Amino acid sequence: MNDKSGGRLRPREEWPPAPRIAADLCATSPLPTCVLWGEEHLVAVYNKGFAQALALSQPSYGQPVRDLWPTAWPDLGPTLTRVLRYGEAATLDSLTSEGGAASFQAICTPLRDHGTARGVHLTLWKTTQEVANHQSPAAISGPDQRELLLLRQAMQEAPAAIAVLRGPQHRVELANAAYQAMAPDIDVVGQTVAQLFPETIEQGFGQLLDHARAGHPVTVTDAPIMLRRSAKGPPRQRFFTYTFSPMCDADEQGAGVLVTAHETTEGVQSRHRAEQLAAEVEAERTRLRQVIEVSPEAIALADTTGQIVLSNAAARAIWGQDNPVADATGYQETFGACRMNGAPYPSEELPLARSILHCEVVTNERLYIRNRTTGMMIPVLVNSAPLFNSTGETSGGVVIFQDISAELEMGRAREEAHHAATARAAELEAVLSGMAEPAIVYNGDWQVTLANRAAHDLFRWEEPVEGLHVSELVEQVRADLGPDSAHLAHIARSADQLANSGEALEMRFVHPPRVMIRRSSTMYDPATGAAVAHIALFQDVTAERVAAQEKDDFLSVASHELKTPLTSLRGMAQVAQRRLSRGETERTLESLRVVLEQATRLGDLIDDLLDVSRIQAGHLPLERVPLDLGALVYSAVERHQATTERHQITARVVQPRPVTITGDAGRLAQVLDNLLSNAVKYSPQGGEIQVTCSCVDSSAVVRVRDQGIGIDPAGHGLLFERFYRAHNASVNNFAGLGVGLWISRQIVERHAGQLWLDVTDASGSTFAFRLPLAQPGSQAGDQ
Ligand code: ADP
Repeated sequence: MNDKSGGRLRPREEWPPAPRIAADLCATSPLPTCVLWGEEHLVAVYNKGFAQALALSQPSYGQPVRDLWPTAWPDLGPTLTRVLRYGEAATLDSLTSEGGAASFQAICTPLRDHGTARGVHLTLWKTTQEVANHQSPAAISGPDQRELLLLRQAMQEAPAAIAVLRGPQHRVELANAAYQAMAPDIDVVGQTVAQLFPETIEQGFGQLLDHARAGHPVTVTDAPIMLRRSAKGPPRQRFFTYTFSPMCDADEQGAGVLVTAHETTEGVQSRHRAEQLAAEVEAERTRLRQVIEVSPEAIALADTTGQIVLSNAAARAIWGQDNPVADATGYQETFGACRMNGAPYPSEELPLARSILHCEVVTNERLYIRNRTTGMMIPVLVNSAPLFNSTGETSGGVVIFQDISAELEMGRAREEAHHAATARAAELEAVLSGMAEPAIVYNGDWQVTLANRAAHDLFRWEEPVEGLHVSELVEQVRADLGPDSAHLAHIARSADQLANSGEALEMRFVHPPRVMIRRSSTMYDPATGAAVAHIALFQDVTAERVAAQEKDDFLSVASHELKTPLTSLRGMAQVAQRRLSRGETERTLESLRVVLEQATRLGDLIDDLLDVSRIQAGHLPLERVPLDLGALVYSAVERHQATTERHQITARVVQPRPVTITGDAGRLAQVLDNLLSNAVKYSPQGGEIQVTCSCVDSSAVVRVRDQGIGIDPAGHGLLFERFYRAHNASVNNFAGLGVGLWISRQIVERHAGQLWLDVTDASGSTFAFRLPLAQPGSQAGDQ
C-alpha cells in the first residue's frame, strides 16, 4: 500500500481488501476513525471526526500519525507497534486531543495483508461530557455506540465471511475482510452476488438468497459449491458452512440478507481423505486377513495379554480348535507345548510369550504343540515377533509356525537310510579287508577308507594309504606301471565317470610284470542319491595273459617245428627217388635213413601234442607194473648215446639193485628220454651227461646232469608250464615245442612222484625226479 522507497501511499485501488473495507467503515463511521498503514503508521484515511480530534487544518494523508498527534504519541506509539507485532487488537483509555481540549479512548484493530498485520484501524471516542453534547441527536449513546463499534470491528476481524446483501439483486452493502477475500480481484461493496460469483447462480444460490430475503433463514453445513478462487481461475469444488439470515426492513425493496459463510473445504477434504484412508485401511486389512487365512503357514496374532486376536485356518488346524484362550502366563497350558526332547516348556519361554513380554524376535524354534482334537503332539517350527503401535509401544505379538512332521519323518528316514548305507559299507569293508583279491574302498569323495592286505602287496605300499585321494594313489603306483600307463591319469581326472561307467580298466605293471583288471562300483545313499562309497577290485589276469601269449607263441613254434622235419622229409624222399633211379643203392639207403629219422621226429612231435591233449582231457592211461628203474635208465642212456658223438652219456645206478618201482615202463622211458634229449639239445658244445639213480628213504631218485647252457633264473618258475620255453633257448637255436617237461611232470606226478629242476648254473643243469619204491608184495595194475 505504501511503496518501499519513500513511504508514500499507493492509490487506493491498489490497497489490499482489509484497509479498503476499513476505509469504507471510516467514511460512514460517526466516530473519529482513521486507517494507519505500515510501520511508520502513515495516515491512509481519516474522517471528519478524526480531523476535528486532531485539529487537522489541512489534508494530512500520508503523514505519520506521530507527527499529526505528538501529544498522544507516548501512549499511542507503543500500542500501535504491539498491534502490528502481535496482530492483536488493543484499547487505550486516555488520549488527549491535540491542544488538550478533549480526552479519548481508542480501539486499535490490526489490518492484515496476506495474514500479516500491516496496518491499524484506529477508532476514538470522547470520554469528556462535552463530547456527548456534541454528538448528533441521532447518534448512538455512549455504551451503545461503543458496543456497535466493537461489533463492527469484530465483524471485520471475523474469520467467517460476513456480508450484508441488499435488494433483489443481492447487492453487497457491507462486507468484512473475509468476504472481500472471496473475490480478491474486485471491491465487493456495491457489487451484486451475480457479478461477484456468477457460477453460484446456476447452482441455485440466487433462489436460496431470494428465499432468505423473503424471511426464511437458511443454514447449511459443509455444502459443496463450485467456486472460483479468482476471477480468472476455474471453478473448483469448495465447501462452506453458511447462513442466509433475512434482514427485514419496512421498505420491501430495502430488505436484505445477512450472509455468513465459513469455508470448510480443508476440513471436509481432510475428513474425506481420512474417511477414504480409513476405507482403504479397512479394505487392506480385509485383504490381509484373507491372505493370512489362506496362508499355508499357521499365523496368529495376540494382544499384550497374550489373548489370540487373529488366527488362520492353518493355525487352528494345528491347535485342533478355534482360538485358544491364552495369556502371557498360560501358554503352556493353552498350547500344551513341550520341547523336542519331551521336556516341558516354561510358559514364559515360549516364543510368543518372549516376543510379547520381552520384545524378542524368535526365529526357527522347534517345539511340540498338542492338538486339542486328536491329543497328538505336533512338531512345529516357530517364528515370532513383537508388534508395536504407532507410539512404539508393544501392542502384542505375531507367531508364525508350521507343521514339520513330514520333514522330521523324512529326516528320520534319511538318517536311517544313511545309517543302513553306512553299515552296509562297513560290512563290505570288513569282507573286502579279508579278501585275497586286492580291493580298495573310497568314500564318496574318492578318499581311501580301506585298502586290504592284497592291495598293499599288489601296489607294494608299506605305509597305510587310508585318507589319500585316488589321484595321489595313482601317483604312487605310476612308477610301477608300464609306459602305457598314461591312461591311468583318467582315473584321477574323472574317477566318478569311471565308477559310473562300470568300465573295466587294464593296468600293466612292469615291476614285477603283472596284468591287473580294475573294476569299480559305487554305493549310493538311497535317500540323497549321493555316493557313499566307491569300491575298486583288482583281478590278477597275468596267468591268463601269459597263457594266451604262450599259446600264440606255441602255435608259431609248433608250425615251425612240424614244418622243419616235413620239409626235410620231402626233400630226402625226392633225393632217394633220384638216387634209386640212378641205381645208387647205398646212397638211396642213406637217404631213406634220414627220411625215417625225420618221420620219427615228426611222429614224436605229434605224440607230444597228442599227449598234451590227452593229459588235458584227463585220459593218460598208465600200465602200471613192477619194474626196475635202473634198467630203464641204462636202456635210455644207451639209446641216446647212439644218437650223439659229441656227448659222453654215463649212467650210474647206486646199489641195491633192482630199483623196483611200480609204473608204466613206456611213460617212464618217455620221461627219461625227454630229460636226456633236453640235456643233449641244450648242450650244443657237447660234454658229459651223467645220469644217476639212487634210493633215498622209500623213494628212487633219478638225476640227469648236463654241462649245457643253463637256465635263465627268470624262467625257473615257469619251466614246467605248458608251452614255456626259456629265453636263452630261443626257437631259432633249439627246436622244441615247450611241452616235454610239462608232460614229464604230469607222468611223474601220476606215479605219485615229483619232478624238479635240481640245480642250474653256468656249468649246466640238473633235472631230477623221485618215484616211490614199490612196497614188497604190492599189486600193480591199470590206473
Ligand atoms: P622243449 O621242447 O623246448 O625242449 P621242454 O618242455 O622239454 O621243451 O623244455 C622246456 C624248456 O626248458 C626248454 O625250452 C628250455 O628252455 C629249458 N630246458 C629244458 N631242459 C634244459 C636243459 N637241460 N638245459 C637248459 N635248458 C633246458
